[in-house]
Amino acid sequence: MIIGLTGGIGSGKSTVSRQLSARGALVLDADAVAHELMVRGQPVWRDVWEAFGWPVLDAAGHLNRVRLGRLVFHSVSAREALNRLVHPAVRDALRCRTRTAAGAPWIVWDVPLLIEGGLFREVDQVWVVYATRAQQIERIAERSQCTREEAEARVKAQWPLEQKLAYADRVLDNTGTLEGLAQQIQAATAGWATS
Ligand code: ADP
Repeated sequence: MIIGLTGGIGSGKSTVSRQLSARGALVLDADAVAHELMVRGQPVWRDVWEAFGWPVLDAAGHLNRVRLGRLVFHSVSAREALNRLVHPAVRDALRCRTRTAAGAPWIVWDVPLLIEGGLFREVDQVWVVYATRAQQIERIAERSQCTREEAEARVKAQWPLEQKLAYADRVLDNTGTLEGLAQQIQAATAGWATS
């Protein structure tokens, strides 16, 4: 069983992901996979610096993620170019790791752009973690210690969560307390064998 877990920034996806992992799921985190693939010497690292040039590397030859992030945040074409390099490689890695994860009954693909990128078609169930836009902004600002304006810009750069709900087989409603969220996860995984 493959569960595609998604949400919006600050909606609580990582919190859910950690709890599903604690319940015995094998969690494959697309952001973490992307990080791995962009380590110096890896194929995606090479593709990225060939596409964007020396400014995205630091003195030691590692990708400067802050600079790369700033670049793609301000340019749609740069963002699309980066996504074309990174997303297919991440998708392949998720598929490959799923194939080789023999024996794991519950596999969670934790993917921020599960729906936008089309990967939702390859999972058995789509779970969306929902919070209101105001809550997303408030929680990001608190977590990342950025201004409300910065948090708002990051939320606005993504699909509205309401749009993702249409794809959901299950909605985890995170408009309440963390305790309330934990109870929903307990209920959703009640039939899972605990390790
Ligand atoms: P995402 O992975 O979707 O960006 P996180 O799980 O990291 O979101 O949650 C964002 C922040 O909000 C974290 O600091 C988290 O502890 C906090 N948070 C998540 N859910 C709640 C909640 N129901 N009430 C209060 N804070 C929450």
